[in-house]
Amino acid sequence: MSLTISALAESQPILLRPAAVFDGQEVHSGWAVLVNGNKITAAGPAAEVNATPNARTIDLAGATLLPGLIEGHSHLLLHAYNETTWNDQVTNESQALRVARATVHAQRTLLAGFTTARDLGTEGAGFADVGLKQAIEQGIIPGPRLIVVTRALVAKGSYGPKLSPDLDVPQGAQEVSGVDECVRGAREQIGKGADWVKVYADYRWGKDEPSRPTFSQEEIAAIVNAAHSAGRPVASHATTAEGIRRSVLAGVDTIEHGDSGTAEVFALMKQRGVPLCPTVAASDAIAQYRGWKKGSEPEPDRIKEKHASMAAARKAGVSFAFGGDVGVFPHGENAREMELLVHEYGFNPVEVLRQATSGNAAIFHLADRGSVRAGLLADVIAVAGDPTQDISAVRAVQFVMKNGAIVKQPMTPGESTSNVTH
Ligand SMILES: [Zn+2]
Repeated sequence: MSLTISALAESQPILLRPAAVFDGQEVHSGWAVLVNGNKITAAGPAAEVNATPNARTIDLAGATLLPGLIEGHSHLLLHAYNETTWNDQVTNESQALRVARATVHAQRTLLAGFTTARDLGTEGAGFADVGLKQAIEQGIIPGPRLIVVTRALVAKGSYGPKLSPDLDVPQGAQEVSGVDECVRGAREQIGKGADWVKVYADYRWGKDEPSRPTFSQEEIAAIVNAAHSAGRPVASHATTAEGIRRSVLAGVDTIEHGDSGTAEVFALMKQRGVPLCPTVAASDAIAQYRGWKKGSEPEPDRIKEKHASMAAARKAGVSFAFGGDVGVFPHGENAREMELLVHEYGFNPVEVLRQATSGNAAIFHLADRGSVRAGLLADVIAVAGDPTQDISAVRAVQFVMKNGAIVKQPMTPGESTSNVTH
């Protein structure tokens, strides 16, 4: 593989010739895709996609071309919790260290085929996600297109880190309390660059206790109204039935996690058209970090609960955003969520591929991407094999194009592996 770190679209049209194209809905064998500048200009049966005379052909034999994948729940400013606990990252790691790591995380995400990510909170790193997004947009560092939320909003006293009660330590999100502060916090974050607003509707108030609601109905509603007035959707961290219920009634746009959701609140989500971003990979990773020997020991209660709530959500007809809470586990391993959804949660590969492409594009209001279709952004990837049959094929990323620029491509004979250009 050669890595080309460039933000510029190719200067000549490019004809991509994979074995098949997953267009965001269905797989089509024998399709070709023409890219000109930063747009897809044609996609269809190879015989009907006429390359302009000066087009360069890239042969992707045996590969499936897909829309660039969309990660729905990442934390680029966190690294895996089994390397350093969340508490220690937030408390002991400087913002400079965290940003330096985040630049590497951004590159790994892109090379894993994720050309867009909704990054749901800097977890104590202030507004660093806004600068990270700008650095990617300006071509200073490689990375996915970012949707950012900055600090996120938590109810005063509910979040962490919690050290001695005598110490006021910086928290992993912005603490607010009361309707006025909620509105002020949302507006401040929007003013400093938040594309979405993230709210924590529930959390564990004390160490080793279950999650319970944090914000009142009025407080969440005030945050949602302030965000929506400014044209910003709202993502709500909610694991409890009551946290989900208050969030949905307040009008949030996505529910994150949903672990203890009940048939009743999932019916409400279905009725109001609120999708669930399930983050099963984070649940799986955390259970293993806590000592679960997966494969040789029975599932811990939290994983059993996750299976039950996911089954209830599907039965209720809730729609799913795709997002793994990557950062809890290593960046670039985003495909874990896809594999778990297929292998352990009963989805078929096509359902999951739709969620991670056209589905997330629709939920995140990204009309310019998520499908392979003329007129959309040239954010496309190719993987060896057929991920609509074997989802793990998404790990075998051979080709990544973002905004018409080739980020990764199959090595041609004689090419050096250290071909990094700027
Ligand atoms: Zn998260």
